[in-house]
Amino acid sequence: MKYHIWTVGCQMNVADSRKLAAGLDRAGLSASAGPEGADLVVLNTCSVREHAEDRAIGQLGRLKRLRDRGQTMKIAVMGCMVGPRDDELQRRFPYVDAFARPQDFAPIMALAGIDDAGGEFWPSTFAQPDGVTAYVPVVHGCDKFCTYCIVPYRRGRERSRTIADIRNEVEHYCARGVREVTLLGQTVEAYGHDLPDAPDLGDLMRAIHDVGGLERIRFLTSYPKDMTPRIVDAVAELPKVCESFYIPVQAGHGAVLDRMRRGYTLAEYLETFDMVRARLPHAAMVTDIIVGFCGETEAEFRATYELLERLRFDKVHVAAYSPRPGTIAHRTMADDVPEAVKLERLHAIEQLEARISTEINRALLDTQQEVLVESRRDGRWNGRNRAGKLIHFEGEAEVGRLATVRIEHATAWSLQGTALPAPVPA
Ligand code: SAM
Ligand code: SF4
Repeated sequence: MKYHIWTVGCQMNVADSRKLAAGLDRAGLSASAGPEGADLVVLNTCSVREHAEDRAIGQLGRLKRLRDRGQTMKIAVMGCMVGPRDDELQRRFPYVDAFARPQDFAPIMALAGIDDAGGEFWPSTFAQPDGVTAYVPVVHGCDKFCTYCIVPYRRGRERSRTIADIRNEVEHYCARGVREVTLLGQTVEAYGHDLPDAPDLGDLMRAIHDVGGLERIRFLTSYPKDMTPRIVDAVAELPKVCESFYIPVQAGHGAVLDRMRRGYTLAEYLETFDMVRARLPHAAMVTDIIVGFCGETEAEFRATYELLERLRFDKVHVAAYSPRPGTIAHRTMADDVPEAVKLERLHAIEQLEARISTEINRALLDTQQEVLVESRRDGRWNGRNRAGKLIHFEGEAEVGRLATVRIEHATAWSLQGTALPAPVPA
C-alpha cells in the first residue's frame, strides 16, 4: 500500500505529518511522491487563515477528480480544519473517508487497516529525519483564546510531553544525523506547567543539552507573558541554545491588543523585549503582526508601524486579519477594515521590514558567522547562523558540521559568503 501526505501550515503540522509517516512506514506502507497512484492520501490542514483552508479545499477537488477517474484511494483530512464535530465537514465533503483532529492519528491508521491507537503523544513512534534539523513538539494545544484565533478550538488545551519522552526523541534524531532541534509549542514557554514538579522550558533545555551529536537547540513560539527571566537565563547559559526569540506582538496599540485579548499591555510586551535584550544584546528577535483587525483605525495602525520602526525586529511575519468562524472576534466584532486597506497596511509593513532587515543584515558584512551546514545545492552550501538567518556560501564544508563563514553579501532575505579554513588541530 502506498500513502501520500500533503501538508500546509505551521511547524507543528510538519512535525505531525512526519510522525504519521513514521507510523505508516512502520506498518509496512511506503511513501508516494504525489497523490497519483497512492492508496491513502492524507491532507494535513491549517485553519489559521481562510487562504490556508482554501488551499486544502482545492486539493480535495483534485483528489475527487482522481477518484472520479477511477483511482481507488482512501482520503483523510487531518489537522486544524477538523473540529470536535465533523458533521458539517462530512456534509460538504462526503467523499472523504476519515476526519482526524490534530495529532489524532488513530482514524488514519485505521484506514490503512492498522489497529494502532497512536495516542496524541504516540511515544513509540518518532519521525525519520531527512536532514540535520528536526522539529520536536513539546507542548500541544493552547489555553490563551486570543479573540481572532482558531487554534485553541482545534488543538485543545495545553498538554506537555514528559522530559523523558522528549529526550528519547532527541536521542533518536541525533543518532540519525540530526544536529539541531527546534522545540515547538503554540506558546512554548507554557511547557511543563501541567506536569508533576512543573519543570519549565529552561529545565527541558538543560535536560537535553548533553545529548550526543546535538549542536543546537531552538524554540518557538513564545508568548510574551509566559517568558520568564529563568528561561532567558537558560538561553544565556546553555551554549547550544541559539539566541533567537520569536515573540509575537500582533499589534502596537493597547486598544487593539485589548480587542485581541492578548493578555498583555504594550508596556508589558516591551518589558519582556527589554529583559531579553538586556541579558542577550545580540539576540535575534522575530515577531508576528496582524493588520486590519476589527476596528483598527489609521492611528492604531501607525502605532504598530512605529513600534516596528523602534524595535527593529530581525524578521516580521505579517498577515491581514482573516475572520475565522467560531472565534470570539467572528462572533462579536465586525470585520470592518476594507480589504484594500488591509492590503495597503500589509504592504507598508512588508516594505518597512525589507528595509530594516537589509540594514540589520548589512551590518553583518565582514563578520564571521557560525553556520550549521544543512545542504549543498547548485554548487553552494546552505545553512543558518545562530540567529536563524539563511546563509549561502562557498569553500570547504560538510553537511551536518558547523562552519565559520565570512559574510560578503547581504540582502533582506539571505546572506552570502565564504567558509574560513577549519583550524588545524595542534
Ligand atoms: N501562538 C503564537 C502566538 O501567540 O502568536 C502563534 C500561533 S498562530 C497559529 C500563528 C500566527 O498566525 C499568529 O501569530 C497570528 O499572527 C496569525 N493569525 C492567527 N489567527 C489569525 C487570523 N484570524 N487572521 C490572521 N492571522 C492570524
Ligand atoms: Fe492563537 Fe493566541 Fe494561542 Fe497564539 S496564543 S495560538 S495566537 S490563541
